[in-house]
Amino acid sequence: MDYQGMVIRPPSEAFSIILQVTLGCSHNACTFCGTYREKPFAVKPWAQIEADIDFAGKYCQRQHTLFLADGDVLALPHADLVRLLESIRLNVPWVRRVSSYASSRNIAAKTDEELCQYRELGLQRLYLGLESGHNPTLKAIAKGVDAAAMVEAARRIALADMALSVSCVLGIAGKEQSQAHALATAEVLNRMQPQYIGVLTLMLLENTPLYRLYKDGRFILPSQTKLLLELRTMVEHLDLPRCLFSANHSSNYLSLNGRLPKDRDEFLARIDEAIAGTTPLRSEYQRAL
Ligand code: SF4
Repeated sequence: MDYQGMVIRPPSEAFSIILQVTLGCSHNACTFCGTYREKPFAVKPWAQIEADIDFAGKYCQRQHTLFLADGDVLALPHADLVRLLESIRLNVPWVRRVSSYASSRNIAAKTDEELCQYRELGLQRLYLGLESGHNPTLKAIAKGVDAAAMVEAARRIALADMALSVSCVLGIAGKEQSQAHALATAEVLNRMQPQYIGVLTLMLLENTPLYRLYKDGRFILPSQTKLLLELRTMVEHLDLPRCLFSANHSSNYLSLNGRLPKDRDEFLARIDEAIAGTTPLRSEYQRAL
């Protein structure tokens, strides 16, 4: 398989075939994100993509899920996406689920019929980076869309019968807006109704604008206790009928993984223990993206 530059995937795709179709992300402007800074957005040559699908068809027969990388495969024109999904179905027919990152912008650019066609061709799960439901924070981090656009994208993903996994980031609003961010994020997640929520904790990367603001003293990272209180506010205010909730990414100080609403009380108790200092937390040394 041909992989160019750093290739990332959600933790839940650890055992998937990773098919790199595009390079980078077409937005590539979020102030906290350093993933694709040195990788301009491009679609890989079709011959390379086909060669990788052929490779998967020969050598990946034990993997039943496939993840489309990099950050923005849904930016492809409709006809190319159909061709891609049809080729996967034809050459790697044992793949039960194809998934991809998505943005509210590239969902908005597709019609309902197009989204339904992707679902019928196997694209079953989308990962959307909400980061925050707090509009001033979304503006500050240059996400390029507001919370209403995220909610609309979630509505249309559900309409196409695809599963939705949404990620949000503790600490992204800085110290002053910490609780406003947590509360707004829970409220927006309640409107989005995702099947999966993944919580990460901000790690300041040296190649990002946010790091420079931090160095200049214009962005103040919330303390560890404030980050735990953000997590607590989110968990407390989430009101979803059925959702897998994970804060077990290695950037987090406290690892949580379970179902909401079933595990809410246990989550809150563990967060309270962490705030009280009676539960060991992941050290800075152990944290990673
Ligand atoms: S956070 Fe997502 S949308 Fe923003 S620049 Fe990074 S990959 Fe692109």
